[in-house]
Amino acid sequence: MSILVVGSTALDSIKTPQAANPRLLGGSASHAGVAASYFAPVKLVGIVGEDFPKRYLNLYRRHGIDLEGLQIVPGKTFHWAGEYEVNMNNRRTLRTELGVFENFSPRLSKAHQETPYVLLANIAPALQHHVLDQMRRPTFVIADTMDLWLNIALADLLRLLRRIDAFVLNDSEARLLTKEDNLLAAIRQIHRLGPKYVIVKKGEHGSVLSSPAGLFLAPAFPLRKVVDPTGAGDSFVGGLLGYLASQNGSIDAHLRRAIIHGSAVASFCCEGFGLTRLARITHREIEDRVKHLEALVRF
Ligand code: AMP
Repeated sequence: MSILVVGSTALDSIKTPQAANPRLLGGSASHAGVAASYFAPVKLVGIVGEDFPKRYLNLYRRHGIDLEGLQIVPGKTFHWAGEYEVNMNNRRTLRTELGVFENFSPRLSKAHQETPYVLLANIAPALQHHVLDQMRRPTFVIADTMDLWLNIALADLLRLLRRIDAFVLNDSEARLLTKEDNLLAAIRQIHRLGPKYVIVKKGEHGSVLSSPAGLFLAPAFPLRKVVDPTGAGDSFVGGLLGYLASQNGSIDAHLRRAIIHGSAVASFCCEGFGLTRLARITHREIEDRVKHLEALVRF
């Protein structure tokens, strides 16, 4: 079963205390799409400028990603620049240049409209709505977001929450959205806003799923060295939805394993700049990490 992914397709300039790398392939849809492609066919919906390097298009193609929905237009590709502190949990955005994203209004083909699994990766909620408006009765819709939209597009985001099955956000965003310090109280409030499934990411401390079946706590894969965590959240949700689409059965029966697969895939993302590591993993490596995660929590 295939997945439609809409989100940012970007060039990222990333500085860590160790290195600086300009114009890497980035964007929420790039990370999520490549992560999902290890499990299921992916259709990418996005926009890039004519400055977008051919080698990045080839990277998408190597992952079998359908690029019918990727517009290439005159102008500059979305550019994001960020800098990490020595503690990699702290990141500062240095620049966000929307470029061609400013006038992006995708029109989905009939085949795209009928895609069963939909990932609304981090992008303006109005654009997430615009894509969802065109979908024909999708099986499962999951959305991601970021603090920026909670601050500048809250009404659109609240309207979106009523239209999706699952919502993924990090713990600080859950608190910002609900004004609740207690995570369980925050999760309860988010369910009331619409989504049946709420998944809260807690960085290196893993994630929490809340569903009608109850709570599930998933660890993050323990890494000795984090090179660049950019896109870890996007890879997590991409891996998660990719796995669900590959199982094509009851969501409740597969969601926990899907989250563990998301954790495994996200860990590879952190081991290289941009997509350099994530784009070169094998199924065997993913399965080894899934087994390792399983062993870590069994008692
Ligand atoms: P994460 O590390 O999961 O927060 O995701 C980082 C990715 O989000 C980078 O590849 C950026 O290109 C992308 N990004 C940063 N700011 C925005 C934004 N305002 N809208 C959409 N994507 C963004």
